Amino acid sequence: MIKRCDLVHPLISGNKWYKLKYNLLAARERGHDTLLSFGGAYSNHIYALAAAAKEYGFRSIGVIRGERHQPLNATLQFASDCGMQLHYINRADYREKHSELVAERLRQQFGRFYLIPEGGSNALAVQGCAEILQHDGTEFDVLACACGTGGTLAGLIAANQAQYRVIGIPVLKGADFLYQDIRQLVSSAGISEPKNWQLQLGWHHGGYAKTSSELIEFIRRFEQQQQIALEPVYTGKLLYALYQLIQQQYFAPGTRVLAIHSGGLQGRDSLMPG
Ligand SMILES: *Cc1c(COP(=O)(O)O)cnc(C)c1O
Repeated sequence: MIKRCDLVHPLISGNKWYKLKYNLLAARERGHDTLLSFGGAYSNHIYALAAAAKEYGFRSIGVIRGERHQPLNATLQFASDCGMQLHYINRADYREKHSELVAERLRQQFGRFYLIPEGGSNALAVQGCAEILQHDGTEFDVLACACGTGGTLAGLIAANQAQYRVIGIPVLKGADFLYQDIRQLVSSAGISEPKNWQLQLGWHHGGYAKTSSELIEFIRRFEQQQQIALEPVYTGKLLYALYQLIQQQYFAPGTRVLAIHSGGLQGRDSLMPG
């Protein structure tokens, strides 16, 4: 079964809508007119933030990793068309993006802004993602979601009153650090001993935004059979992992698995080969 978060909003896609919701409210409450955040050149978060800022009347600044390329790719062109100001920083500075030093430099350059971390993952994002299954009557035993920063999974874990098992599929290599990050994000939602969740680390296909021919072939077959679009960075890896786990009889017969379709289709066409 698939929870179609890719359909919640035409532009503010999937999980990013839930991650931004309480951040936008907080920004407004604190009297901010400018939102600033970070992302790579194909970032779904930057795309969603630009659209949300436009829709809700904020200025927005996207701090983009790496150098400016002309013409802009489709993601950044869209962000720019929404009115987002794009600011590029080198990879070394980007690694320090959440440091006070970099924030201070950005403040000197752009003035006062409401800062949203990379991928949008903070306590308010967790609060928003805890609402993903609110009012959804689907019954299931296992809930599965792709993980980048882990904010979405943290919200799903926070919302679980131990009725089901939550499984995260990290899309990046060497994602052990996510255990700690996710525990911290969940505790920001007031839950200190989250139970019944785990990560499955082996499904990254070489790393973040890396693909394999098996993955691409799986996505094409899935899309044809199910008439549901996937992309190779997140949802493709999630569904690939679940299909493999089912085939390996990882789940007991009759286990009901609900996969979160977290959206992200804006980058699909640039990321699928051919
Ligand atoms: C950003 C994103 C994720 C990852 O969400 P995190 O909260 O960073 O783990 C998953 N799927 C899609 C489609 C995304 O755009």
